[in-house]
Amino acid sequence: MQSIWPLTDKQRPARRFIDTVAHTLRLVPGFCNICGGLTIFNVKHPNFREHANCVRCKSVNRQRQIAAALLSCVEGDGTMTRLTSSLYSLPAGLVIWNAETTRALHTRLKQHPGIHYIASDFVDARHASGERVGEVLHVDMQHTHFEDNSIDFILSSDVLEHVPFFEVALKETYRVLKPGGCHIFTAPFYHHRFTNEIRAAQTDDGSIIYNRRAWYHDDPLRPEGVLTYTVFAPELLCQLERTGFEARLLRLHSPWHGIYGQNGLVIVARKALPPNHARDWIFSDPA
Ligand SMILES: [Zn+2]
Repeated sequence: MQSIWPLTDKQRPARRFIDTVAHTLRLVPGFCNICGGLTIFNVKHPNFREHANCVRCKSVNRQRQIAAALLSCVEGDGTMTRLTSSLYSLPAGLVIWNAETTRALHTRLKQHPGIHYIASDFVDARHASGERVGEVLHVDMQHTHFEDNSIDFILSSDVLEHVPFFEVALKETYRVLKPGGCHIFTAPFYHHRFTNEIRAAQTDDGSIIYNRRAWYHDDPLRPEGVLTYTVFAPELLCQLERTGFEARLLRLHSPWHGIYGQNGLVIVARKALPPNHARDWIFSDPA
């Protein structure tokens, strides 16, 4: 008798072996899909998701996962990128909103001459979305200032778990995406349970109810860290589909691109194209 959940993962021992070898070697050659060149990945830290830095651009594994998913959408196969694909391969004219204003992925996208790039952060609830606070564009993902059907790709790397009403945020990203556009994101994700863990909830008066010990993540804008409201699980995929998205959960592992570890999970939520719409650069449905 065999349990079908969690899903059987026959490649896990092979991935684990590759990760162990990389961690033992520490400095491993490969190709960085963010800075677009041959590089060395520094795999000295056992937290593969947050490290394995590219020595050229300092990007970490998680950022390259987002870049790999973005490139796979643009290049059409929807699964993994070509060996030498990088953000330099992005076609001109794309409108990309990244909910991050620091680090390597942001730095590279900002330099791309052909794309319309918007970078934002959540600064403080006293500001309105679209307001500049110093150098930073403040955007609340729950209530943005973007127009309907105006963005090709939304990128958020470990942001959604910090949004008090994440389902409101998903409705908002759905609204502002162009048909066929994708919200590509990472977030903490449980493999062993079906339902999201609501660790904290915000009430109508703005106070916070804690269901679990308060859990803060590092944040470049806040020394005290940022509160985690939700840890996601497969329930999130159902919630995305109820919002109108076609949702995919990708597991990425590509040592060549410095993508190591057992939890290289990226969610690609695509706003469905209208019926009879001609296919364009957005990835086609899986065979
Ligand atoms: Zn790099």
